[in-house]
Amino acid sequence: MSPGPVRVAVAGCTGSIGTQTLEVVAAEPDRYRVVALGASGRDVDRLVDQARAVRPELVAVQDGRHADRLGAELPPGTALEVGDASLALLGAVGDVCVNGVVGFAGLRVTLATLEAGRRLALANKESLIAGGPVVQRSRRTPGAELVPVDSEHGAIHQCLRGADRLGPRRVARLVLTASGGPFRGRRRAELERVGVDDALAHPTWRMGPKITVDSSTLMNKGLEVIEAHELFGAPAGDAGCGIGFDAIDVVVHPQSIVHSMVEFTDGATIAQLSQPDMRLPIGYALAHPDRLGTPFGRMDWSTAAHLDFEPPDHEAFPCLRLAYDAGRLGGTAPAWLNAANEVAVDAFLGGRLRWIEIPEVLKRALDRHDGTPADSVEAVVDVDRRGREAAQRLIEART
Ligand code: MG
Repeated sequence: MSPGPVRVAVAGCTGSIGTQTLEVVAAEPDRYRVVALGASGRDVDRLVDQARAVRPELVAVQDGRHADRLGAELPPGTALEVGDASLALLGAVGDVCVNGVVGFAGLRVTLATLEAGRRLALANKESLIAGGPVVQRSRRTPGAELVPVDSEHGAIHQCLRGADRLGPRRVARLVLTASGGPFRGRRRAELERVGVDDALAHPTWRMGPKITVDSSTLMNKGLEVIEAHELFGAPAGDAGCGIGFDAIDVVVHPQSIVHSMVEFTDGATIAQLSQPDMRLPIGYALAHPDRLGTPFGRMDWSTAAHLDFEPPDHEAFPCLRLAYDAGRLGGTAPAWLNAANEVAVDAFLGGRLRWIEIPEVLKRALDRHDGTPADSVEAVVDVDRRGREAAQRLIEART
């Protein structure tokens, strides 16, 4: 890395991950400097405020509608780039790019960062889930490094530290924790009439609407199972621990204090604990292999705490099994399911689909996946488009 502060690019800067990344950087200004901001361009007020605060070299927006206003209000010395391809410019600007873009749109940022041989602090799980095989290729670029920001995978990354010095196959299981979302404990029949406000009332995490709905259906956890397989499924010593889908478990843990665990072959389990605060995994991904000097989410052990664990209810939350199915199918099946899910969640948020219908649409959509291999970015983009169309048709056909 270059001398002086670590240069940080933030893609998806106006969203939840982006704003919390700026808080982490602001906490350690001698160590980190934000050099580029990228956003969809819809939340212009926030983007202008952020740019005036951090004075980046570059601001990139996908949506050009407010380009004139941005051109007038950005600080002097900040270049403006506009258009769908502009976010990918962030990959090569800094030493590290935090990818907090929402949904499949984050794939280009992921690929651009890895192909530039930089560190990718990845919060955009969809790019890894949908683009898995092509992202794996770009991870092999010299200098490229992927450190997960997703709290569960950040936890596993921490629990696995040192595991590469063990013999092969000494990791027995990865255990992802799930808060269970706002509907934990409800039976299927009690979920017939839940609405958008119910689904967005997450008990422990503050996040954007897409991931909060995914959390309510447990699709978020399903996608994270695929993400864990992509991140840690490679053979031991090759940035992975050789783990398959049968050795990735999910346990519901409503307090969101244990962020995930690794079980070793001798029966020992190592876990990472903290309050639910995304600034900790963001800071971990920036500082790795060092750690931040600023605590985020530290535990106060002087107050009584209960840690509860229970198995997921697959009948009430069928999306979790659907994700395992897609992950085991491999190829472009995860991309297809992810695309269908983005459409279904959008339809739910727009009042065009009931919550209980989301897994029904996704099950039928996954049945229509045609087994296209994921051998190029273009193939993945095409599968994403067709998966969206298939879900859209299924949603329209039921009304
Ligand atoms: Mg997560």
